[in-house]
Amino acid sequence: MVCNPKAKKCPECGARFNFASAAEHPWFPFCSERCKLLDLGRWLKGEYAITEDLSRGQDLRDKAIDLDDPDVKAALDDT
Ligand SMILES: [Zn+2]
Repeated sequence: MVCNPKAKKCPECGARFNFASAAEHPWFPFCSERCKLLDLGRWLKGEYAITEDLSRGQDLRDKAIDLDDPDVKAALDDT
C-alpha cells in the first residue's frame, strides 16, 4: 500500500485532495476556500459566545455585588 504524502483530507468536509504547495493552495489544510470560511465562521461564533459570557461577568463586577446578599448568593449558585 503506497501512501501519497501530498494526499490530504479536508478537516471540514472530509474530502480528499492533493496538496502541492501553499502558493497553489492558500486555504490549506482545507480542500477549498469554502471549507476554510465555514470553519472560520464556526470559530468566530464560538468566540462571540465567549465574549458574551465575559461581558456578563463584567456586569456583575461593575455593580459591586454584596456577597452576603441572598439574591447574589442565589445567582452565583445558579451557575
Ligand atoms: Zn472541504
